[in-house]
Amino acid sequence: MMRLPPFRFHSPDSIAEAVKILAEEGTDAMLLAGGTDLLPNMKRGQQTPKTLVSLRRIKSLREFSNGSGLKLGAGMTLTELLENNTVREMYPGLWQAVSVVATPLLRNTATIGGNICLDTRCSYYNQNEDWRKAINYCMKKDGETCWVATTSETCRAVSSTDTAPALIALGATVRLVSADGERLVDMKDLYQDDGASYMQRRPDEILTEVILDPMNGWRSTYWKLRRRGSVDFPILSVAAAIHADGDGTIEEARIVLGAVSSQPLLSAGAAEFLVGNKLTDEVIEETGRIMAKLAKPRGNTDLTPIWRKKMVPSFVNHALRELRGDNVTELRKRIAHQARD
Ligand SMILES: Cc1cc2nc3c(=O)[nH]c(=O)nc-3n(C[C@H](O)[C@H](O)[C@H](O)COP(=O)(O)OP(=O)(O)OC[C@H]3O[C@@H](n4cnc5c(N)ncnc54)[C@H](O)[C@@H]3O)c2cc1C
Ligand code: SF4
Repeated sequence: MMRLPPFRFHSPDSIAEAVKILAEEGTDAMLLAGGTDLLPNMKRGQQTPKTLVSLRRIKSLREFSNGSGLKLGAGMTLTELLENNTVREMYPGLWQAVSVVATPLLRNTATIGGNICLDTRCSYYNQNEDWRKAINYCMKKDGETCWVATTSETCRAVSSTDTAPALIALGATVRLVSADGERLVDMKDLYQDDGASYMQRRPDEILTEVILDPMNGWRSTYWKLRRRGSVDFPILSVAAAIHADGDGTIEEARIVLGAVSSQPLLSAGAAEFLVGNKLTDEVIEETGRIMAKLAKPRGNTDLTPIWRKKMVPSFVNHALRELRGDNVTELRKRIAHQARD
C-alpha cells in the first residue's frame, strides 16, 4: 500500500486566513480541495508539498449564485453541479463535461476548482516513485529529459481536465485571490503550453469562483473520447458553444479541444470560419478539418496520437450536429460505452 508522506496541515475557515498561510509558506504549500488528484499524486511522489492548506472549511467557496449569469464557488463538488438544474438547462456543455469526470463516488468529493487546476498527465509521470527513478525521472519532476520529446525544452504532459474546455467554450472567467489582492482571468488565458507549469495561477493564489455570463441564446455541448465509458481521463475532447440568429446563421462561436496538448486549445480559425455560416454538413466537415490541424497529441497517454488526431473531425462533427439540433442521443450512448484496443 502506498502511504502519504508527512506534511503540515492547515484548515483555515476563511479565504483571508488561507491566503495569509499561502503567502507565509511560499511554494512549499499546496491547496487541498477534494484531494482526489493531489493525494494520489503525493503518494506516488509526483507532488511533494510540505504543507497542505485545506479549503474544506471555507463556507464561501461552496456558494452558488444565480443572478445575471452564474457564480460557482470553487469548492462546489461536481455532484452538486450535476444536481443543479440551472447548470443542466442553461449550460449543458458544462453539465455534460462534469457528468463524465471520474466516477460518482469521486465526484461526491471532487470540486470544480480542483478540476480546473488539475495536474497535467503523462504515462512517464503518472507512475510510482520506483518506476520514475528507474528512468532517471523526467523534466516535469526531479529529472532533466522529456522522454516523450527528447529535444523539447518544455514538458508536453497532457491537459486532462474535462471542465476546462467546456468553461472556455462558455466564455467563463475565474477569480484568483491572494494576500496582495485579487484578479479576474478569462478561462481562455488561464493555461499555458507547458505541461510542468501549465497555469497562469501563482502558487499564492486561490481560485475562489467561476463566473459565467447569462447564455442569452448560446447553445453548448461537450464530447469526450476515452477508452472506458465507466471511468477514464479524456484522450480527446471537444467543447463547443455557438450563438446563431433566427435563421441559424452563426454570429459567435467558440470551439475548444481538450487532452491533445498541454493546455486546452481554443480555435480562432474555426470561430472565424463559422461566423456568417449556417451549420450545413459541408460547414461542419470543414470545421472538423480546421480543428484537426490544431491538435498536437503525443505518445504519452492512452491510444496512439495518430488515431486520436484522426478522431478530431468526427468529434467536432458530433458536437456541431448536436448544436444544429440533430438527434444524437443514440450516438452519445454508443460513444460513452466505446472501447478500443
Ligand atoms: C480514478 C480517477 C479518475 C479520474 N478521472 C477524471 C476524469 O475523467 N476527468 C477529469 O477531469 N479528472 C479526473 N480525475 C481527477 C480528479 O478526480 C478530478 O479532476 C477532480 O475534479 C479534482 O478535484 P479535487 O477537488 O479532488 O482536486 P484536488 O485533488 O484537491 O486538487 C487538484 C489540484 O488543484 C489545486 N486546487 C484545488 N482547488 C483549488 C483552488 N480552489 N484554487 C487553486 N488551486 C486549487 C490543488 O492544489 C491541486 O494542485 C480522476 C481521478 C481519479 C482518481
Ligand atoms: S511530457 Fe516529458 S517531461 Fe512531461 S511528464 Fe512526460 S516525459 Fe516528463
